[in-house]
Amino acid sequence: MSTIFKNELSSDLLEKLFLSDEKCLEFLADLKWGDGFVCRKCGNTNHCPGKTPYSRRCTKCKTEESATTGTIFHNCKFPVSKAFYIAYNVCKGKEDLSTYEFARRLSLRQMTCWKFKTKIKTALQKMDSLSEGEKMSINKILTS
Ligand SMILES: [Zn+2]
Repeated sequence: MSTIFKNELSSDLLEKLFLSDEKCLEFLADLKWGDGFVCRKCGNTNHCPGKTPYSRRCTKCKTEESATTGTIFHNCKFPVSKAFYIAYNVCKGKEDLSTYEFARRLSLRQMTCWKFKTKIKTALQKMDSLSEGEKMSINKILTS
């Protein structure tokens, strides 16, 4: 989570990310596998493309991993670009937007926004109360 937004992203890039699910997946895939692919199941480092955009498939055990697996965006019921918008604003936003405001801007149900915002807040709170070492491992879980 914090790893995702560790660096200030340019407004140019943000705009693209907020508008395109594909860009978000590409961005997450880059973060995840920028240092190379490692299969979560068997540790193999060879992969071929998976079925969905930007997913990868282990050549050994055939386990497929999507760009969102292991991140806060996994199993998200609405478009990842909208989730990205909420996550970025909660982590880095200058103003504290209400879930009603998110719902209005993104054409989502308020409850949907509330649930996702709560998920992010919980993840962030966990981070705050942890030691550096624990944070590192959480970062790994959230973003790799
Ligand atoms: Zn594998």
